[in-house]
Amino acid sequence: MFLISLRADLHTHTISSGHAYGSVKEMIEGAAEKGLDLIAITDHAPAMPGSCQAIYFSNLGSIPRRVGGVTVLRGVEANVLDRRGALDLPDRLLRRLDWVIASLHDNVLFPEPGASYTDLYLALAENPLIDMIGHPDSPEFPFDAERVIPALGANNKIVELNEHHAFGLRRENRENARRIAALCARWGVSIAVNSDAHSPWNVGRTASAVAMLEEIGFPEELILNASAERVLQHVRSRKNGEMCE
Ligand SMILES: [Zn+2]
Ligand SMILES: [Zn+2]
Repeated sequence: MFLISLRADLHTHTISSGHAYGSVKEMIEGAAEKGLDLIAITDHAPAMPGSCQAIYFSNLGSIPRRVGGVTVLRGVEANVLDRRGALDLPDRLLRRLDWVIASLHDNVLFPEPGASYTDLYLALAENPLIDMIGHPDSPEFPFDAERVIPALGANNKIVELNEHHAFGLRRENRENARRIAALCARWGVSIAVNSDAHSPWNVGRTASAVAMLEEIGFPEELILNASAERVLQHVRSRKNGEMCE
């Protein structure tokens, strides 16, 4: 039994991502079955092979704000396209979404052996349209976490601890995730612990990530999605109080 209890999942994919298997309705039902108060639907933006087009994100307002007891955030997992931090949706669309994740994916931004991604992460920190940095634990995109983590915190970015990514096949991801979490604790930078579910059954699946946080004594008050109200306050503050119904 964990001391940390998560109330929201801020990273989930539907069938529209092209390699995920649930409808929006099924993903929300998955959240309700896990007893969550809030889910963010964050399909991959267009540069991910097989994913949906920009117009999909422009029409997310068709999804009700609340379904049963679950609050729904309309989001995206945007792809970082280049070393300057360009994203694959226009700013006018990113501005309208509740929750913008920016992630590096090796099938969109091909890793350069021996390169450092510190400047790229520092550029993402400066982008006011980004809410959360997705799964920064990839060993193929190394960066100076001692510089990047405080910069993310200073710019009100949430750092993701991603169950699917950090506790999958590779040990290096796990080690990086642990090191990044420890730095977040040291610098007082907020994190979100998410499933990155690609099917309804995996919504809210975060047990390994939570176990690791408890092991290192990570402070609960720095976990954004330990409270749905905390998430909503963050979203409202990022959107200058404007969050459409
Ligand atoms: Zn991703
Ligand atoms: Zn994802």
